[in-house]
Amino acid sequence: MVEERDERTAATRGLIGRCPHCGKGRLFKGYLTIVQECESCGESLGLYRAADGPAFFTMTIMLLLLIPMIGFSWVLYRPDPVTLLASVGLATTALTLIILRLVKGAFVGYLWAKDEQDRGA
Ligand SMILES: [Zn+2]
Repeated sequence: MVEERDERTAATRGLIGRCPHCGKGRLFKGYLTIVQECESCGESLGLYRAADGPAFFTMTIMLLLLIPMIGFSWVLYRPDPVTLLASVGLATTALTLIILRLVKGAFVGYLWAKDEQDRGA
């Protein structure tokens, strides 16, 4: 029997770093490593490989954020170019690291809902 998997619930649970199946166990060990099995319900989560997907989405999100970010800081503070570059560079790096983890969690949750396992391709 194949259970019904709601992809929105699964992706939301993944987004907050929880197991897409039960919403209780942790999805990550360390920064970006997906746990092999859920500690709470025993669901095999290591089978779902996000590969390049999260990186692609993160880049898209960052690009959309970056342009208004530069625009606003320029209009509000008129920083000299070096300060602008340094602060935008720092903000971008920090945001990318945060967003990448969120996106990866949501992505794995979505893959789990779709039962899109790694088939060795
Ligand atoms: Zn679980």
